[in-house]
Amino acid sequence: MEPTKVGVIGAGMAGPALALFLKAKGYSPIVYERNNKPSEAGLGIGVQQGGHQVLAKIPGLLEHLHGWPRDEWHFYSVVEEDEGLLGTSDSEGKVRERKGLGTICMRRPILQQRLVEFAEKAGVPFKWGHKLESLQQDDERVTVSFANGARETFSFVVGCDGLHSNTRACLFGEHPATYVGLCMWGGVSPAPDYLRGKSVALDVYGNGASMIVIPMDETTVMWATTQSEPESKETWRTVDETVAEEFKKSSPYSKWGFGVGELVRDSTSITKVF
Ligand SMILES: Cc1cc2nc3c(=O)[nH]c(=O)nc-3n(C[C@H](O)[C@H](O)[C@H](O)COP(=O)(O)OP(=O)(O)OC[C@H]3O[C@@H](n4cnc5c(N)ncnc54)[C@H](O)[C@@H]3O)c2cc1C
Repeated sequence: MEPTKVGVIGAGMAGPALALFLKAKGYSPIVYERNNKPSEAGLGIGVQQGGHQVLAKIPGLLEHLHGWPRDEWHFYSVVEEDEGLLGTSDSEGKVRERKGLGTICMRRPILQQRLVEFAEKAGVPFKWGHKLESLQQDDERVTVSFANGARETFSFVVGCDGLHSNTRACLFGEHPATYVGLCMWGGVSPAPDYLRGKSVALDVYGNGASMIVIPMDETTVMWATTQSEPESKETWRTVDETVAEEFKKSSPYSKWGFGVGELVRDSTSITKVF
């Protein structure tokens, strides 16, 4: 009997991982991604214990990811009248001790690239430049139409196409996400001495704004700020050099204490999420 053909829409995090497991179970998954190749966009991803357990089931993957452990959080206030350490938490480290696997962090493009490589090695075909536009289903099959004119038929289709999923919209109608008014700016910076080689993340609070700092490997950290801003479309792309320089120079975060201002000023790239 022919293996069951499954359309997996989206080659972000979920798509390639799901395709690997489907393949291992004897299905015949094909991944369709609207972009022409894996994306270089994005900052870092923290994979918590549950996700780490899933990745550990893919033979050899963890050894190729070099995920950096995150065991502790240190919380600071930079509010002028109440500056200082607010507290610490080692709950992620405790989970690692108890379960053997904890939280790991890495650059998002690395995780996506490795998942795609491992899925391809397992024999999963990837069709890049295929944006799902519509799907029709009956009792027997699902037919997908792509923006490039291609049409494919599957036994079933799984939408792994992220926040603005077309698959979901085709099945359940448009339900636009509600913007809560918060926007994220983030960046990648060389790890300062006080974080180098450590499994410690920072969570820093100012007036109406906050910032997290997360080690990605021994020498690199990512930081991300949250602040109120009018809505714009999420892209995860790096902002151009002039905008980045302006942010480094003028954003209030550049002046924050506890070493985080230095991280913003030393960023090698800056990304605005939405
Ligand atoms: C470019 C990018 C960079 C990101 N960077 C970060 C980051 O640095 N840190 C972080 O915490 N989160 C980041 N995210 C979000 C994070 O990857 C997801 O929120 C989370 O991991 C869930 O993964 P997912 O596979 O469900 O969705 P996603 O990772 O968003 O992947 C969805 C995939 O589906 C594709 N797609 C969308 N619509 C269609 C369509 N109609 N047809 C075919 N393909 C389609 C997208 O191009 C994307 O590759 C990023 C997302 C993207 C798309």
